[in-house]
Amino acid sequence: MNIEEIVNFYLTASTGELVKKADEVCRQNYSGSVWIRGLIEFSNYCRMDCAYCGIRKSNDKVSRYRLTENEIIETVRQGKEAGIRTFVLQSGEDGGRDIKTLCRLVEKTRLTLGENGALTLSCGRMSKSNYAELKKAGADRYLMRFETSDENIYAKLKNGENLSIRLRALRDLKELGFETGSGYMVGLPEETEQTRINNALLCRELELDMVGIGPFIPHPETPLKDAEQGPIEMAVRSTALIRLLLPKTNIPATTAAGSIDPEGREKILMAGANVLMPNITPVKYKKNYLLYPGKICLDESGLECLNCLSFRVKQTGKKIDLGVGTALSYKERERELV
Ligand code: SAH
Repeated sequence: MNIEEIVNFYLTASTGELVKKADEVCRQNYSGSVWIRGLIEFSNYCRMDCAYCGIRKSNDKVSRYRLTENEIIETVRQGKEAGIRTFVLQSGEDGGRDIKTLCRLVEKTRLTLGENGALTLSCGRMSKSNYAELKKAGADRYLMRFETSDENIYAKLKNGENLSIRLRALRDLKELGFETGSGYMVGLPEETEQTRINNALLCRELELDMVGIGPFIPHPETPLKDAEQGPIEMAVRSTALIRLLLPKTNIPATTAAGSIDPEGREKILMAGANVLMPNITPVKYKKNYLLYPGKICLDESGLECLNCLSFRVKQTGKKIDLGVGTALSYKERERELV
């Protein structure tokens, strides 16, 4: 199907039909494999004040933390022992950690990981030269959602910031050779069906190697506290649309989906997703990284999360794969460059 046919199919097919087709495309490319990434939320300090986010700067009810370098390395070591080979270090836009400190952290993590591992960063927007330093220090991948493709909604969410700035940063990451991921929230206030289609089309235009989406969940300590929570089906349909538009990208079934529906992640896995990100942040910090309320797995250690996920994946007829799981889109692009 070409782009127009895919969008038309999305608009007219039942969720069952849409999911079936997306699952087929996913299996053609990734068989039934579900890659595992160990997620470490290493700081909740943030200089941004995004209207949707529970750890926004002006939420003074948040108890702020920064994991020490040793705590992070120890967490990676334990994850590695459990078989995890790819790690995602995520944080708020933490102005308290300068680029040198961050680079040293990346170097040390890289050493702990060894050659057969991959390191993803998700620390928000920086200058291209900072991204370049992080790449040089050993980061392989970068995740940064554009949140919505609608310029007006974006500006409202981010205190007037222009969407093009975020998109420029994503292009910088790609130019630097990062395996680049982005994505968006589904069901934001003022969003329409057309916004959701445009969101997915923008992912295709950016040729992303990873697309993470999740339902928007209103947080009581944010300006969007009274906004409505969309149904999980909206995220399921959007996942399927992304899989059809980007057959070779990696798509995680995110924690947010599991937080609004006990079987949310399974539903997303069956709609074309092929990645899970168990939260292996040390338990004592987990409750302070509350981007949205109702976040799951706050009392479990990373290892318990991994066991629970293995069980859940089996029920979808897929299987956990502890490989590095480079996106096929990235592999193909790299080959073209050689
Ligand atoms: N500072 C980093 C990481 C942001 S947190 C960055 O800017 O990229 C990761 C993601 O959580 C965000 O990109 C956003 O899409 C999601 N998120 C934040 N608040 C949310 C909410 N209330 N509901 C659902 N998802 C949310």
